[in-house]
Amino acid sequence: MAQRRKLAAGNWKMHGFQPDLGQVRALADAHPAPNCDVLICPPATLISRMSDALSANPIQVGGQNCAPQSSGAHTGEISAGMLADAGATYVILGHSERRADQAETDAMVCAKASAVSAAGLIPVICVGETLEDRAAGRTLQVVGTQLAGSVPDTSQGGSIVVAYEPVWAIGTGEVATTDQIAEVHDAIRALLIERLGPTAQETRLLYGGSVKPGNAAEIFATSNVDGALVGGASLKASDFGAIIEALDAS
Ligand code: PEP
Repeated sequence: MAQRRKLAAGNWKMHGFQPDLGQVRALADAHPAPNCDVLICPPATLISRMSDALSANPIQVGGQNCAPQSSGAHTGEISAGMLADAGATYVILGHSERRADQAETDAMVCAKASAVSAAGLIPVICVGETLEDRAAGRTLQVVGTQLAGSVPDTSQGGSIVVAYEPVWAIGTGEVATTDQIAEVHDAIRALLIERLGPTAQETRLLYGGSVKPGNAAEIFATSNVDGALVGGASLKASDFGAIIEALDAS
């Protein structure tokens, strides 16, 4: 089986000003993680400063969105190449907040993922069902449809990351059970293998949804979980550091 290097990814969402870079410096100083990759995705305004602050550290910096185009008359948009120029190496795409607030469709996420890969960065493609979907028994159908529509045909398994984030678990304190996580992660792995072939064994699958220091170790011991996408708990060095340590030891 392919060796997948684990990944702890922080999503700062629309939080963070220059003084908050102190949290990143504290994380870098106090929580070395030789066995896993660590990524922080701050608001676009902080990407360049955060990469400068981390220049001597393996912690990587990413974006939370980008345009599907590489340049042009698209006021207010930022291309994947521009994120790379600012120091980003990953881009979160299709987060459920963007799917809901900006009406992002699978086709839009797919176009952005292609742009991210073309710019030499790694897309972190998010999928996940709502509570209504789960109650209606259509979790695997919804996740499968999002995955099919959001992952570009040309993807190499090792060059994309997929994050399973049940919408009902994001920012709510509700966490999926390890059985629920394993069922969806195993299904995602099987669908990716069907779609992309054996390289899909190299795709890192992250769980996201109220991951905290207290539940991280159990989640990281779950089938086909290669790390986490962490929102709220990534804002504080002590909390994110504890999650990273749990991943590093898993
Ligand atoms: C997220 O924003 O992707 C997320 C999982 O948030 P939280 O960890 O706060 O639930």
